[in-house]
Amino acid sequence: MSDRYGPAPRRRARAVRVGTVTVGGDAPVVVQSMTNTDTADVKATAQQIAELWRAGSEVVRVTVNTTEAAAAVPRIVERLAMMGVEVPIVGDFHYNGHQLLAAEPACAEALAKYRINPGNVGFGKKKDVQFSTIVETAIRYGKPVRIGVNWGSLDQSLAARLMDENHDRAEPWDAARVLREALIVSALESAQRAEALGLPGDRIILSAKVSGVQELIAVYRDLAARCDYPLHLGLTEAGMGSKGIVASTAALAVLLQEGIGDTIRISLTPEPGQSRTAEVVVAQELLQTMGLRAFTPLVTACPGCGRTTSSFFQELAKTVQEHVRAKMPEWKLKHPGVENLSLAVMGCVVNGPGESRHADIGISLPGTGEAPAAPVFIDGVKAMTLRGDNIAREFVAIIDDYVAR
Ligand code: SF4
Repeated sequence: MSDRYGPAPRRRARAVRVGTVTVGGDAPVVVQSMTNTDTADVKATAQQIAELWRAGSEVVRVTVNTTEAAAAVPRIVERLAMMGVEVPIVGDFHYNGHQLLAAEPACAEALAKYRINPGNVGFGKKKDVQFSTIVETAIRYGKPVRIGVNWGSLDQSLAARLMDENHDRAEPWDAARVLREALIVSALESAQRAEALGLPGDRIILSAKVSGVQELIAVYRDLAARCDYPLHLGLTEAGMGSKGIVASTAALAVLLQEGIGDTIRISLTPEPGQSRTAEVVVAQELLQTMGLRAFTPLVTACPGCGRTTSSFFQELAKTVQEHVRAKMPEWKLKHPGVENLSLAVMGCVVNGPGESRHADIGISLPGTGEAPAAPVFIDGVKAMTLRGDNIAREFVAIIDDYVAR
């Protein structure tokens, strides 16, 4: 059994510039997200992009589905610049992208990247013309493209061709494998076609999204082995709440551990009233907990049990987590490296002091039957003991003081 610790070396991929961000090459795995506002609504879309950017999204995609949406794109980019938001905006095109980009040159210019879905850029000869129109626009404006194939909109003529070819195999594949192959071939043949049209290979990113965890892992392993384009990872239609988070994490963690993936999106269906930024937080936490990147101090907290005396323990863990997230924009500017800080909030003496010593700053709250005192550990050493009603405020002040120093 291998004794290798940590992720496999990252797969070598070409570096692609998306506005100010590099995807692939030696760049860290990039976090991206997508708006769910009507792109034609300039104010609402710019507002949501700003929220996603503040939460940590490094690239934001917007759907460009109508002439109104295409006309809104340059105004959104302008508004973002006035708000001080510097994030590359990607246009997501389906069916009519060739027409929209031709009709709105300012949109073609303002976007940092175009996403093309080869499964729905038309059929037969129309497909060739529509696909080449988008690629030629990318060439003219110096933009990269993501060729993003999707299980739900697979090129049916290609799938039929591969099904036919499968009959001639000595040992035919099962239907699921043929469909996986169709996804991969669709992405690769489209990339070859884009290069043949004149788009440089270092302006192409690929994705092949499916909604099943095992299928996604199989498709990306294969795609990664058959090209050196950077890969955008995402489990499509992951779903809501814990199901969406668990399924996305399960699939992406396996691939990232194998060194596959240059940019990720966690496609969560927001709960009613839930902020769109949840998907950015999950993407960051996935990369950070795997040790691939650091974005914000992570709080280690025990689950609590019959030994925890009150809900104060959970409240303190939440307060600390929310405090560091809120402070990060300011801390990041003033205190480089603060994102690597580790914090611990523990519920009793059983694991409290030990876990707190492993963190940069930790607190062990008193459990059932323990004296009402909360020792605080800084850099592995017991530094003080907090008591009384102001433990939360005092502990947060200790964190602020540590960061400032
Ligand atoms: Fe329970 Fe204490 Fe362990 Fe927390 S540290 S789970 S309170 S035994």
